[in-house]
Amino acid sequence: MTNKRIAVIGGGVSGLTSIKCCLEEGLEPVCFERTDDIGGLWRFQDNPEEGRASIYKSVVINTSKEMMCFSDYLIPDHFPNYMHNSQVLEYFRMYAKEFDLLKYIRFKREPNLEISGPQADAPTAEPSQPGL
Ligand SMILES: Cc1cc2nc3c(=O)[nH]c(=O)nc-3n(C[C@H](O)[C@H](O)[C@H](O)COP(=O)(O)OP(=O)(O)OC[C@H]3O[C@@H](n4cnc5c(N)ncnc54)[C@H](O)[C@@H]3O)c2cc1C
Repeated sequence: MTNKRIAVIGGGVSGLTSIKCCLEEGLEPVCFERTDDIGGLWRFQDNPEEGRASIYKSVVINTSKEMMCFSDYLIPDHFPNYMHNSQVLEYFRMYAKEFDLLKYIRFKREPNLEISGPQADAPTAEPSQPGL
């Protein structure tokens, strides 16, 4: 019997934890991320992308690392208690690598939410940019 496929929308921190939870439950996650990288809001870029929220360059997270860390993957001791946004992103990358989550993400893809009926359990995607 094949595993049930689950569409996860977005490769931000919510998407990463959702992928991991799916795997723990024996489900088959397919994550659609419209950009070409993980991190969502925490991936700062000098040039903002249309439709993607972003922090600004100097943002330091307002949640302490003891409060915000994943319970199954602690923030390294040498990271400060309140991390710069680049360290938050680095932590998310470490988490994704530790649990081998990247292979479940389809970058530059958005789910087709119009699907209904018998095809509803078969995630598909449309390229978010022509030619991709
Ligand atoms: C200015 C600002 C400051 C913040 N500061 C803090 C803070 O200090 N501490 C704190 O704990 N929280 C803070 N937050 C809250 C923040 O929202 C969370 O920390 C966290 O980033 C939410 O993760 P997420 O994965 O839900 O969303 P996001 O990080 O926004 O990621 C969403 C991802 O989904 C992708 N996506 C969206 N729609 C689609 C689609 N249709 N198809 C495919 N991909 C899609 C996007 O490209 C993106 O990669 C802040 C938020 C803002 C806006």
